Amino acid sequence: MAEKVDYKKVTGLVNSTESFGSVDGPGVRFVIFMQGCQMRCQYCHNPDTWAMTNDRATERTAEDVLNEALRYRGFWGEEGGITVSGGEATLQMDFLIALFTLAKEKGIHTTLDTCALTFRNTPKYLEQYEKLMAVTDLVLLDIKEINPDQHKVVTGYSNKTILACARYLSDIGKPVWIRHVLVPGLTDRDEDLVHLGEFVETLTNVERFEVLPYHTMGEFKWRELGIPYPLEGVKPPTADRVRNAKQLMHTETYEEYMKRIAEKS
Ligand code: SF4
Repeated sequence: MAEKVDYKKVTGLVNSTESFGSVDGPGVRFVIFMQGCQMRCQYCHNPDTWAMTNDRATERTAEDVLNEALRYRGFWGEEGGITVSGGEATLQMDFLIALFTLAKEKGIHTTLDTCALTFRNTPKYLEQYEKLMAVTDLVLLDIKEINPDQHKVVTGYSNKTILACARYLSDIGKPVWIRHVLVPGLTDRDEDLVHLGEFVETLTNVERFEVLPYHTMGEFKWRELGIPYPLEGVKPPTADRVRNAKQLMHTETYEEYMKRIAEKS
């Protein structure tokens, strides 16, 4: 018989935490940034999370992280909770399952922010992923580019597993927010935006689809790490380009989505 896992003692490599996150899921959230990511997005604002080593992170138990989060529970209100982000959190699946299981035992809303590069449609992978989804209330899924070649330019990898993950989440009816970072000259080509919008429309679980305008706030981290910044000189998109992207992709705000759902019922 398999040995019962003591979730409290499962450890993960945690880069940092944020007590009052306001953009990574509904309401006010405690955000945990996990260490490690295989992608190399040109606009990454957390390059310090890339290495899968602990010189930039702390090995912590799920119980310890949850106890830290619980100190802020009074600020979460009806909607808030915890979000695990990164880096790429699913590289540490056992820790996520442990943390979210403990959180759900306390009735806490759980959100996974993922780039989904690790996703595999194999029985072995899905066995773990299903365990994670059973204790995950919401997934924030970044689709960085719908065009596979351009995705490779932006991140260094194909988007095959990411789109497969989006489809899987739709099939199981898991609530998802799709996010697309809009970078002038890189991820804002009209044709690709139209295709991304068309793809998202085929998914049945999307609660929110949003454009995140590129910003340069993470640039200093590249400099600190001594890595050349590939987007040197690129400015955030203008309001017109953001509006254009929203129109081409038919995005809607959460409030618009809730209104639409209310009108449907
Ligand atoms: S997936 Fe996220 S953490 Fe990883 S390189 Fe891209 S933006 Fe950075």
